[in-house]
Amino acid sequence: MATWGGLINRYGLRMDISHSVEPVTLFEGNTPLIPAPRLGAKIVPGGHLYLKYEGLNPTGSFKDRGMTTAMTQAVADGAKTVICASTGNTAASAAAYAARAGLKCVVLVPDGKIALGKLAGAIAYGANVITVTGSFDDGLRMVREASERAPIALVNSVNPARLQGQKTAAWEVTEQLGKVPDWLCLPVGNAGNITAYWLGFCEDGEIRPRLLGAQAAGSAPIVLGKRVDNPDTRATAIRIGNPARWAEANTALKESNGTILAVTDHEIFDAYHMLAEIEGVFCEPSSATGVAGLYKSVQSGTVETEGKTFVCVLTGHGLKDPDSAVMKAPEMVTVPPDTDSLLKALDLATGANI
Ligand SMILES: *Cc1c(COP(=O)(O)O)cnc(C)c1O
Repeated sequence: MATWGGLINRYGLRMDISHSVEPVTLFEGNTPLIPAPRLGAKIVPGGHLYLKYEGLNPTGSFKDRGMTTAMTQAVADGAKTVICASTGNTAASAAAYAARAGLKCVVLVPDGKIALGKLAGAIAYGANVITVTGSFDDGLRMVREASERAPIALVNSVNPARLQGQKTAAWEVTEQLGKVPDWLCLPVGNAGNITAYWLGFCEDGEIRPRLLGAQAAGSAPIVLGKRVDNPDTRATAIRIGNPARWAEANTALKESNGTILAVTDHEIFDAYHMLAEIEGVFCEPSSATGVAGLYKSVQSGTVETEGKTFVCVLTGHGLKDPDSAVMKAPEMVTVPPDTDSLLKALDLATGANI
């Protein structure tokens, strides 16, 4: 095939969704698997590190993989309106795919806890944005109930059609790497993504990676084994206290002989800055959580690195959360518009530093 036609075009035969309508697509998927040798030398000595850069999907996160299938199914089912609760990326993605399909879209987001770039997306794509004075978990409960009481289609990852799209990321990783990695590392929020990756790997063959899930310490229900009522983290995409796919995540972790751990916001932001500054790959803070979890597991001796291949899933683009990026801004120097001033400011005027 000469050009990329999106996930349903590429993998539709392996997706358990309706094929009675034209796919709703923005040509999502086919994101790069980027080798990260410099960061790898630091965090997985003797191993090989790759980054699955999901921020390059059409609306800037992996959610687009599941939205092409969920929205196509909604159209096939005759829906006129879709609804979701979201920490931001699902909202932006649902809004875009609903626009594409000509459906109305309602998104519920936690009041004041959504990154600017995500809100910008949802608004730009014309969604009806409702803010909830509560958490994502409250929002999810509300939209679940609303979709049972009114004729609106729910497009959260409790919708099985979402996983049918999201599982394709596992197949892409294996195709791009030419083999199944030893470890696949990713952030875990509502746990749809870890469930979908495991589904994808299991459908693809007998050789499967071990899964390494990472949660933010302030919202780590799966690690703690109990619900977190007031989840708290600056990694807002995984600020979730009661994951909808909790049981499936535990199954995936167990079957893959994997591990799940909590990392502090400090560790998340360390990984976030390393990715951008050492490899030039800018992801949102939540997306760096898998890297932070891997680094921590290697340091504590839980994960061996020698000769092993690691894929870290970077779930969303850094520009989604510009506030987190500029928080670290160094003191900026202002100069008048002449080159002498510039060289002076750079301390290069004498040539001493050149
Ligand atoms: C949705 C999201 C997650 C969490 O994925 P789950 O499927 O909810 O576990 C992580 N990172 C980003 C950027 C997301 O948008």
